[in-house]
Amino acid sequence: MGTQQTSAEFFRRATAVVPGGVNSPVRAFGAVGGTPPFFVGGEGPYLTDSEGKQYVDLVCSWGPLILGHANPGVVEALHRAVAAGTSYGAPTPGEVELAELIVERTAVEKIRLVNSGTEATMSAIRLARGFTGRSKIVKFAGNYHGHVDALLAAAGSGVATFALPDSPGVTGANAADTLVLPYNDIEAVERAFAEHGEDIACVIAEACPANMGVVPPKAGFNSRLKEIAHAHGALLILDEVLTGFRVSTSGWHGLEQVTPDLTTFGKVMGGGLPAAAFGGRAEIMDRLAPEGPIYQAGTLSGNPLATAAGLATLHGATPEVYEHLDRVSAQVETEMSKALSAEGVTHRVQSGGNLFTVFFTDQEVVDFDTARTTDTEVFAAFFHSMLEQGVYLPPAAFEAWFFSSAHDEAAIDRVLSALPGAARAAAQAQNR
Ligand SMILES: *Cc1c(COP(=O)(O)O)cnc(C)c1O
Repeated sequence: MGTQQTSAEFFRRATAVVPGGVNSPVRAFGAVGGTPPFFVGGEGPYLTDSEGKQYVDLVCSWGPLILGHANPGVVEALHRAVAAGTSYGAPTPGEVELAELIVERTAVEKIRLVNSGTEATMSAIRLARGFTGRSKIVKFAGNYHGHVDALLAAAGSGVATFALPDSPGVTGANAADTLVLPYNDIEAVERAFAEHGEDIACVIAEACPANMGVVPPKAGFNSRLKEIAHAHGALLILDEVLTGFRVSTSGWHGLEQVTPDLTTFGKVMGGGLPAAAFGGRAEIMDRLAPEGPIYQAGTLSGNPLATAAGLATLHGATPEVYEHLDRVSAQVETEMSKALSAEGVTHRVQSGGNLFTVFFTDQEVVDFDTARTTDTEVFAAFFHSMLEQGVYLPPAAFEAWFFSSAHDEAAIDRVLSALPGAARAAAQAQNR
């Protein structure tokens, strides 16, 4: 094809007009090296790049595509929606149906739709502060909640300190109200509340962290968070942007019944279009404008295309889909570990529901400090071997791998057959 361009050419054009060539940093392959492929199509479990190379996709848009690419039901719903106009900036039946479905499947009583996970956590925090009349928030190192100013803060050590900004542009004032604690350390939470309890509006945590790699909560951790927060008049926000409708029909809440005051959703609920939400107890949610005084709004919130894709995706994500995801993720996890062991590669696999991460370390991973003991160069070697063999993994060591209902035996076989070669590459990198 005369118009065909290589990924390298696209990347060169992109870097001329877009910082780093990408619209979200991890896509640039900075963590693994090399040039990212530019994709032109997706079908079922497969992605095709601009050079015509096909990959089994284990990113699935970082989780949303639980039914795979171009799922016929989602595509048809979108065709119908787009023909009826793309946005009204006024109430629609679709947003009511999506809100009802989420309320039915989860523990939230009322919900508001927004456009991104970042917007959901930002709004939930404002609501918690407005509801309690307090300013401080507690978050955990290595937990990611989007690029909200107050949440882009992580302490430099495992000690509880008031955070320094994690990024230039986040002011000291923004970060100063954020208390960052080591994950899975309930004593650190008790100490923080003993000292600052009267000023803390909320604790926010990923329901099962998956953005420092998968680091599941210890038994009882989430329920203790709730008890401690409530004992001091603070709220618990569990962030299910990633786990919501990904690990079960009702997200992490389906696996561990801790009901937080507020929950954030995103990714799967938008079916690949920009939709997210925050919800919780009616008494708290009713403090939002126009019912209450806490302001929150959005021109495209509840957009009819996004709600159509979200509804088609959630209706398609039946219990059988989750059984399939559980089965294929367990199979790949087991075979990957076997392949790495056969080559003598030091590693640990950690899972939470159908999510897992391989850490190239000999330490038990319970928090951000131990997660960071993973050897990222070994991961990069493993990643590039998989990529060369036509398997597209998340291009960073601290991520989960995502499957879909479209990942059939043929696709999984391609993943499995790439593992021994990737394990050899990892072994070479480890022995270097
Ligand atoms: C992806 C993610 C977010 C941010 O969502 P965006 O839509 O990228 O803004 C927030 N929290 C968690 C747990 C996530 O995984």
